[in-house]
Amino acid sequence: MDTAPEFPMLRLVSHPLVQHKLTILRDRETPTKIFKELVDEIAMFMAYEATSDLPLEDAPVETPLERAMGRRVAGKKLTLVPILRAGLGMVEGIYRLVPGARVGHIGLYRDHDTLQPVDYYFKVPGDAAERDFFVLDPMLATGGSAVAAVASLKRAGATRIRFMCLVAAPEGIRKLTAAHPDVVIYCAAMDRGLNEAGYILPGLGDAGDRLFGTR
Ligand code: URA
Repeated sequence: MDTAPEFPMLRLVSHPLVQHKLTILRDRETPTKIFKELVDEIAMFMAYEATSDLPLEDAPVETPLERAMGRRVAGKKLTLVPILRAGLGMVEGIYRLVPGARVGHIGLYRDHDTLQPVDYYFKVPGDAAERDFFVLDPMLATGGSAVAAVASLKRAGATRIRFMCLVAAPEGIRKLTAAHPDVVIYCAAMDRGLNEAGYILPGLGDAGDRLFGTR
């Protein structure tokens, strides 16, 4: 994983397979089925990297031949929290790697008057203080949803939260880090910036529309 001096909380997953798949994802000609599969695969690879610091504990095991000492992941249960709707595309790939994970959901909309993100759906396991959370959203653009999602989790008692996206804009990284300096951000690429409509450039377009074929 690479780091960026300007953003100490950013971890760039530079694995060649991730970068290769991301390029196909960016291609405007990539059809919905392939797009969905690629988001799933990239999320899985990213989770492999992002979980490389999980603590281990000794675990005795009986092999067919003898008793041995193995190791297993220790500590708190992982909880995946996709931000609806595009974050849903990242869940299954990570879940395949961590089948013991729980899955919460956060739905946000932007209030027309205040322009602030408001939760319309929030459901996470009750023992939030005991858990390690991964908030999932393929695009970290303005950072508004990410900041609001992390704030909601903290209000529910969460203290250990990471954010995972595929493509991040510097504006979003800056905003998320300013609001929540404790949150490590994993991404596959940091792009140039946002256009006037809030889309990431060069980006990959609207991740939700491309995932669900609603364009
Ligand atoms: N959300 C998307 O899906 N794409 C962007 O480029 C920005 C926000």
